[in-house]
Amino acid sequence: MKGAILWFTGLSGAGKTTISRLVAERLRRQGYRAEVLDGDLVREHLSKGLGFSREDRDTNVRRIGLVARLLARNGVVALVAAISPYRDAREEARRDTLADKAHFVEVYVKCDLATLAARDVKGLYKKAADGSLPNFTGVSDPYEEPADPDLTLRTDAGTPDERAAEVMEFIARRRLLADAAREADVRYPDY
Ligand code: ADP
Repeated sequence: MKGAILWFTGLSGAGKTTISRLVAERLRRQGYRAEVLDGDLVREHLSKGLGFSREDRDTNVRRIGLVARLLARNGVVALVAAISPYRDAREEARRDTLADKAHFVEVYVKCDLATLAARDVKGLYKKAADGSLPNFTGVSDPYEEPADPDLTLRTDAGTPDERAAEVMEFIARRRLLADAAREADVRYPDY
């Protein structure tokens, strides 16, 4: 049995949560086991009390990586939706996952800053701009773009559904889930 980690990285509001949830739904409908590890939720529980220094961000990413690996080695598809701004921390997650003989896919959810600031779904870009939210990734804190992502999703245009479909195509093309856990008797609903 071999699961996979799909690691969605990108700036706040780029669409990591939205797309990973859609992908999880699609995978479940196909009988796979999928879990989303959402950065915002992780910070309320698993990483409660951690701040936004580089050290704390790296600790947060290591914790998420550990849980994702525990899931993946049980045949689950772990979808990580976390800014994870530092390249080294993401590369460490990749190395550890591959050492466990599970798949690791780095998905760069890419949206330009002007679009993010205009959308400002969570109101954070406004706060970052007026200085009331320090250490905000992409504005007043670093974001190291993936050097060689397995998949890049542009989210300044199109719909979340279209981007989720791209991820599903990628999974199928690479045959990533050939050894993943699948329920034998799942009924496939019509799309
Ligand atoms: P993140 O998890 O990266 O912080 P969210 O998924 O919480 O981002 O928010 C992304 C927002 O952008 C959602 O409100 C979503 O509906 C919107 N959006 C608009 N276009 C797209 C797109 N093409 N892909 C993903 N999200 C999009």
